[in-house]
Amino acid sequence: MLDIEKIIKNIPKTELHCHIDGSVRPETLFELAKSNSLLVPFSSIDTSIEYFQVKENCNSLNEYLEKFNFPLRVMQSKENIYRIVMELIEDSKKDGIIYTELRFAPLQHENGNLTAEESIEATLQAMKDGKDKYGVVSKLILCSLRHNSVDDSIKVVNLAKKYISYGVVAVDLAGNESDFPPELHKKAFDLAYKSGINITIHAGETGIYQNILKSIDLLHASRIGHGIYAYRDSKTLEYLIESQVTLEMCPTSNLHTKAINNYVEHPIKTYLKQGINVTLNTDNRTVSNITLIDEYINLISKLNFSLDEVLKLIRNGITSAFVTNECKNLMLNKFNESVKSLNK
Ligand SMILES: [Zn+2]
Repeated sequence: MLDIEKIIKNIPKTELHCHIDGSVRPETLFELAKSNSLLVPFSSIDTSIEYFQVKENCNSLNEYLEKFNFPLRVMQSKENIYRIVMELIEDSKKDGIIYTELRFAPLQHENGNLTAEESIEATLQAMKDGKDKYGVVSKLILCSLRHNSVDDSIKVVNLAKKYISYGVVAVDLAGNESDFPPELHKKAFDLAYKSGINITIHAGETGIYQNILKSIDLLHASRIGHGIYAYRDSKTLEYLIESQVTLEMCPTSNLHTKAINNYVEHPIKTYLKQGINVTLNTDNRTVSNITLIDEYINLISKLNFSLDEVLKLIRNGITSAFVTNECKNLMLNKFNESVKSLNK
């Protein structure tokens, strides 16, 4: 392992933007598809990969989203969801992550004999057991989907209210941003806001920079998923700097969805220098075939990040977590200790 890789691995980190269904281990997907007797177009793990992972020449967000079909088909039982979440927590541990916020859309797991409540409970149980087994604290964000009705989003907010004391920390709006603007779901996010639930919204991921300020103003978002297109509007940039609303950035995913044509075009370094509160995340570990360590190494090798800049991103990831100040301070202490030992 390269020195820098070892250093980054050993520094306590958080991850704030990771979709469970986009981060199922390929071997597990293959095994569960077979053992659940699903009709599948592949007969070996090697031939299955193209159904779970994007190729370098992926053309759009919609092509990217097709890779979620198989994970969603296997995530229709408590046992499968439990195993998948436990494995994801183990993978997070391998990245040196001490706190992770995982997310999924509970209404997408009602296609078998499962209720949305049962899918959430299986996930929360795995998170509890994952903390005991791997020492990684994980919390859950419930996603509603842009192409679904506002009533569906309200259902998701009510689920978040029900499980807020059991490990759910926020609600999110995800999916096709081009055809379904944030305001369609305002009623649901007003309810979340009034109920004191944290809000993060996918916005400015596919070229529509206006969705960033709309998500903050109309949907009360305190964090934005991606926000990559903020650079197209000076007012948006100024607002992000002033408000310190967090951007959950995921450069490899942005490359795959063609939000950028080339890794070096990614604005994450410019945003960091401008004083925007940016964090680094994987988005979908399996779909993009990436770990959080890989993401940090890419910043260093492709965008010339210095170690100080990497440390700033890690620190932002801790201070932007949806936890109490007391929890943040505990994590900051661990982070500071680790950084101090680097200088010895
Ligand atoms: Zn996402």
